[in-house]
Amino acid sequence: MAEAHSLMLYNTLTRRKEEFVPLDAQNVRMYVCGPTVYDYAHIGNARPVVVFDVLFRLLRQMYGEKHVTYVRNITDVDDKINARAAEEGISIRELTERTAKQFHEDIKALGVLPPTIEPRATEHIEEMKALIEELIASGHAYVAEGHVLFDVPSMPDYGKLSNRSLDEMAAGARVEVAPYKKDPMDFVLWKPSKPGEPSWPSPAGIAEPGRPGWHIECSAMAGKHLGDIFDIHGGGIDLVFPHHENEIAQSRCAHGTDVMARYWLHNGFLQVEGEKMSKSLGNFITIHDLLKEWPGDVVRFNMLRTHYRQPIDWTRKGLEESKATLDRWGEISDRIGGALTKHALPDIGVIEALKDDLNTPLAITRLHELAKECRANADGASETWLASAAFLGFDVARWHSPVQSAELVEVTDPDLANRVKSLVAQRGEARKAKNFKEADRIRDELAATGVVLKDAKDPATGEIVTTWELAR
Ligand SMILES: [Zn+2]
Repeated sequence: MAEAHSLMLYNTLTRRKEEFVPLDAQNVRMYVCGPTVYDYAHIGNARPVVVFDVLFRLLRQMYGEKHVTYVRNITDVDDKINARAAEEGISIRELTERTAKQFHEDIKALGVLPPTIEPRATEHIEEMKALIEELIASGHAYVAEGHVLFDVPSMPDYGKLSNRSLDEMAAGARVEVAPYKKDPMDFVLWKPSKPGEPSWPSPAGIAEPGRPGWHIECSAMAGKHLGDIFDIHGGGIDLVFPHHENEIAQSRCAHGTDVMARYWLHNGFLQVEGEKMSKSLGNFITIHDLLKEWPGDVVRFNMLRTHYRQPIDWTRKGLEESKATLDRWGEISDRIGGALTKHALPDIGVIEALKDDLNTPLAITRLHELAKECRANADGASETWLASAAFLGFDVARWHSPVQSAELVEVTDPDLANRVKSLVAQRGEARKAKNFKEADRIRDELAATGVVLKDAKDPATGEIVTTWELAR
């Protein structure tokens, strides 16, 4: 067995792969920016959800399920939400509840585990206001025309995550700058609500009710649930600037710390058939629509075939290839009975691949090798293979066709019944002799006459039991 290595993660903050050492191995803490709930999540939104689910699973494996806290928020206050609710003529609450429910159904189908805590922005307004007050008190924020703004020049190393200097950012800032800003880079922590928009009593003695800017919610929720400094912060690469840069500025300046999270992880962009996904190009793919055509495992597999930091080109051809692989694995699983016991452990090679900055392509290569071993020797590697695939989040119980009881199949033709019984027995003998070619030939011969065989392991004896039914 290979020597266990430490977990290495590429840290956007330092621009290198670093050994992961948690602040407290008894409570490893990770925050990932979640969805803004106003419409079906698209496949680009699914990428961080799946990627950080793999990391969550790996951390749980390394530190124990009870020793990992994973927070993924829901943004339920946003201009897009207000606009969509008005468009549909429904309440904001109705829209956000419905969309959050759809999101949960979609990602469950992709094999994503629920995070430990899933806080909502609207339930953390008080925490946001407290942070804003602290930022004003420490000279990092100011009030102007009903707004509270973060004073970017008050933080000398602003821009460290995205690796840009203040001068560079100022040069790139849009020409039109709100007149109440002291500096063009200053960003909104709190703003007045327009009529009909959700509003709360404002902080900082502002008389008019208002609502939070986008960035402050993550600082408030991460601080509340994970502490002033925590281990890992994740999200899509598009969030590095300005969202994550601003989260860091808010949290560090409010708490007086030199980091917010110690490891910043970002997944790469997603394109569709070689083009940027956009509603105007008509190539906007929701998870919901994908799942109408493809099993959730195929979507997950297709996502994990590419390393998380690389850009993905999401194509139909890629999905077809992923489906072909999983179909083949399903056949192998059928052949070996598809049994996975609770105590079965994943392969060390799969875990080591993931420990190297979540190298899922390498982990999948290892799954291919294990599948090959299973095909060659049904008794040996099967549990490790299935346990490894389950560890990567695949629904291996579904790979194996559900067992049908032969008694339930009404066969009125005794000749047919006898012929099938005899062929099933022959196939059983062939399998015992490890003559899988012959076993498969018999299965195919029966399939050609509309008889579908189902193999399952008898949990009591460990024997493979074959039942059959007539295809409709
Ligand atoms: Zn965030």
